[in-house]
Amino acid sequence: MENCIFCKIANKEIPSNIVYEDENTVAFKDLNPQAPVHVLVIPKKHYSSLNEIDDKNIAGSLLLAAKQTAQKLGITDYRTVINTGKEAGQEVFHIHLHILAGRPLKWPPG
Ligand code: 5GP
Ligand code: ZN
Repeated sequence: MENCIFCKIANKEIPSNIVYEDENTVAFKDLNPQAPVHVLVIPKKHYSSLNEIDDKNIAGSLLLAAKQTAQKLGITDYRTVINTGKEAGQEVFHIHLHILAGRPLKWPPG
């Protein structure tokens, strides 16, 4: 997908701090971290949001990649978030799963 910043990160067209990668996914550090650990997990293939995901393999890969990333980072307690749509806080329209950790996280979020 042209002009998608996360496609460019997945394709290594622009640099990012990649912490985990497998066949279907890439995980990299968020540019504007909201916690000591803030990593984004994305599918290499472009889907604008969870609403577009039609492939169980990709859906499962995202969640398992989150677990693998957490293990690689040595964290056992973390929050995973997928914002879907503007009202829910989605700003980048290439689906991404946030991993947040390293500080107490309040619930429910604001
Ligand atoms: P959203 O609000 O869409 O759920 O989350 C988008 C996230 O992407 C934000 O946390 C933002 O800081 C991060 N982000 C936006 N542009 C870039 C970028 O170019 N590189 C990285 N590493 N993170 C980005
Ligand atoms: Zn994309």
